[in-house]
This record gives sequence, C-alpha cells and structure tokens, in this order.
Amino acid sequence: MSSDCLILNGNGKPLSYFPLSAVDWKTAVKLVFTRNVIVIKEHDDWEVRSPSQSFKVPSIVMLRKYYKFSKKVKFSRSNVFLRDMFTCQYCKNVFEKKDLTIDHIIPKSKGGETNWLNVTTCCKSCNLSKADKIIDPSPEVKTPSLRDLIKGQESLGTKKIETDWQEYIVA
Ligand SMILES: [Zn+2]
Repeated sequence: MSSDCLILNGNGKPLSYFPLSAVDWKTAVKLVFTRNVIVIKEHDDWEVRSPSQSFKVPSIVMLRKYYKFSKKVKFSRSNVFLRDMFTCQYCKNVFEKKDLTIDHIIPKSKGGETNWLNVTTCCKSCNLSKADKIIDPSPEVKTPSLRDLIKGQESLGTKKIETDWQEYIVA
C-alpha cells in the first residue's frame, strides 16, 4: 500500500509513529467522505475526478476525535533497529537494515528469550563470529520509549519523509 496521506490523531500528532500512520489515496479520500477527518493539507498537483466532481487528494488529515493509545512501544525487529540506531552493538558500526540482524544476547539455545532485554542489533559478520557464544560484557539493552525510537528515526535522516509531513512528525 502506498503512503499518500498522513493521518493525525485529534491532538495533531501522528496516530502512530512506527510504522507512521499513512494510507493510500483511496483510503484517504474515503475518510474525508465519511467526515471522520478534517483535511489539513492537500497535494497541490494531484486531482482525482469522478463523473460529477473533482477534488484534490489530501496529503494530511486529522481525526475529529482524539483516540488514546498506549505509549508502550511494540516489540518488533524494526523497532529494535531503531532503538539501537542501526548500529551493530558489537562492532559499533552503522549498517543498512538489510545488513543487520537481531541477535539474542543469551542465545535461544541456552534459554534466552526474545524480548527487549535480550535482543540487540548485530551486523551479519559479527553475528557469524559470535555464533552461539555469550559475549562478555553484553551490550546494554533497554525497553525503549517512543522518544528513543524517534531519535533512531532521525538518525536515518529525513529524506524518505514527505516534506509536507515533517513538522507534524517531529515530537
Ligand atoms: Zn558488527
């Protein structure tokens, strides 16, 4: 699904950050028609037509109501990379997502669990050399806050984010 329109919660902040709450243009147009959202910005040069009318595709919409969500960050592979800022915790080099893997500090084979406190970001070559060893000292790990993940996102640079959205995304 393409990300054509950013969805903000009733407080003007994205409905979700990771992944960013964005929908394709068809869903965005439907939301506008159901009157559940207010259009904040439109794509200047993108119009769609129906037989009877034409209108601009929204680029940012805001829900009329504020929905309360848990601030707890979801455990996922991508969010572990964000927490660790795409840095291998063993060699301390920064890698692209495709060259990274999730490493269990206490290996699964030795009873290690898959959760925030036992996984870390590891590059593929460190992962190979580590194999099933427990390395001492182990990297520092924690349960990240939303702010930690936003920092990780910023470390990526902002080139992938539509410029219109920028000011709404930074917390
Ligand atoms: Zn490494």
